Amino acid sequence: MATGPASKSKRNVGSSASLHRNNVPTRLDIPTTALTPSSSAPSSLSPLVVPAQASNGQMLTNELKTAICASASGRITPQPFESDSSGFSRDDVLPLDDDSTKINSAHLQELEKLGEGSGGTVTKVYNTATKVLMAKKKINVDPNIHKQLLREIRFISKCHSPNIVTYYGAHMEDDNSSISILMEFCEGGSLDVIYKHVNQRQGTIGEPILGKIGESVLKGLVYLYEQHIIHRDIKPSNILVTRLGEIKICDFGVSGYLESSSVNTFLGTSYYMAPERIKGQKYKVSADVWSLGLTIMEVAQNKFPYPTVAPIELVAHIVNLPAPVLGDDYEWSSELRDFLNVCLEKDGEIRPTPKQMLDHPFIQKSSSREVPLRKWIKEVWEWDD
Ligand code: ATP
Ligand code: MG
Repeated sequence: MATGPASKSKRNVGSSASLHRNNVPTRLDIPTTALTPSSSAPSSLSPLVVPAQASNGQMLTNELKTAICASASGRITPQPFESDSSGFSRDDVLPLDDDSTKINSAHLQELEKLGEGSGGTVTKVYNTATKVLMAKKKINVDPNIHKQLLREIRFISKCHSPNIVTYYGAHMEDDNSSISILMEFCEGGSLDVIYKHVNQRQGTIGEPILGKIGESVLKGLVYLYEQHIIHRDIKPSNILVTRLGEIKICDFGVSGYLESSSVNTFLGTSYYMAPERIKGQKYKVSADVWSLGLTIMEVAQNKFPYPTVAPIELVAHIVNLPAPVLGDDYEWSSELRDFLNVCLEKDGEIRPTPKQMLDHPFIQKSSSREVPLRKWIKEVWEWDD
């Protein structure tokens, strides 16, 4: 039985896929043929490592220069989050010594590697005690924040929503310098892996799917915010699809802790950061809306929306250039175009919150229609059942 993206069967699903109108492919399905190149956010530049000097220094404003290149590690400096909530403390919810979600590592049988990010490796594991497949993300963290981090993960483990990945718990590794976070295993993989695979089959991801991605991520963000959790790292690799076609966000809640730790490796790619974050200004939950807009545009067009340039120039582009717009190569709906324009409003003060974005006509249209996501992900990976 096929169990995930890497173990798909060879069954061909083709013909329903190539829906064309006036030679303009509609964005619904997945034709199957040879490889085509795709471009995404520069992976070799992950995480953003800012060189001492830009290859084109003229593009950098003074403001931007001070915002980046500042930290000794050469990464973008963490910025303050301007919260709408007040007086909330994890201590009110969960005592530091609560270990109800501690996972015994002896029960975890390692299966295959699922991927690797800037902060560590994600492995598929089988929990022999609970008989559940899980994804284990092992990250190196500053020992000074171990306790807080484990507590945050315990808090997150109590959060449940159809649009967020379930966290089962965490444990310290024997080396005492890393923590393994156990979360729901999503067999469909992350959006970056999915769209690259679809692109290799000369397919595209259609607007109804894009609508469901937008709707799911916004609902997940709203839920998280209600739990006083902000995401800060929305991007294709942090949006996962289950075998049932559910779309869920992952990697929330921990980045805030790790941003402030001296290790600081979890910060990850910065290419999806809103301009106000890049500039080191205060930011709000609407910063995640920018990242969602960029993510949906990338998935729609099979390529990262900004030109492929050196990292520091890319960051300068994001701050200095007008926001990207969808190309004219497909018959995109006016609702999608407007949705992306609103998400990619460069001024964070004007950009709406995730909750406000749920009222956008593109999302309203998505909410009102059934999209066979289970069938879609099955076709993407050519699963047998
Ligand atoms: P960065 O570390 O820069 O944020 P990233 O998100 O790609 O990048 P990880 O979070 O370590 O890095 O994830 C690596 C890959 O593992 C992801 O791209 C995804 O394909 C896969 N992955 C992560 N979590 C899961 C999960 N719960 N189920 C299935 N696959 C997962
Ligand atoms: Mg991730």
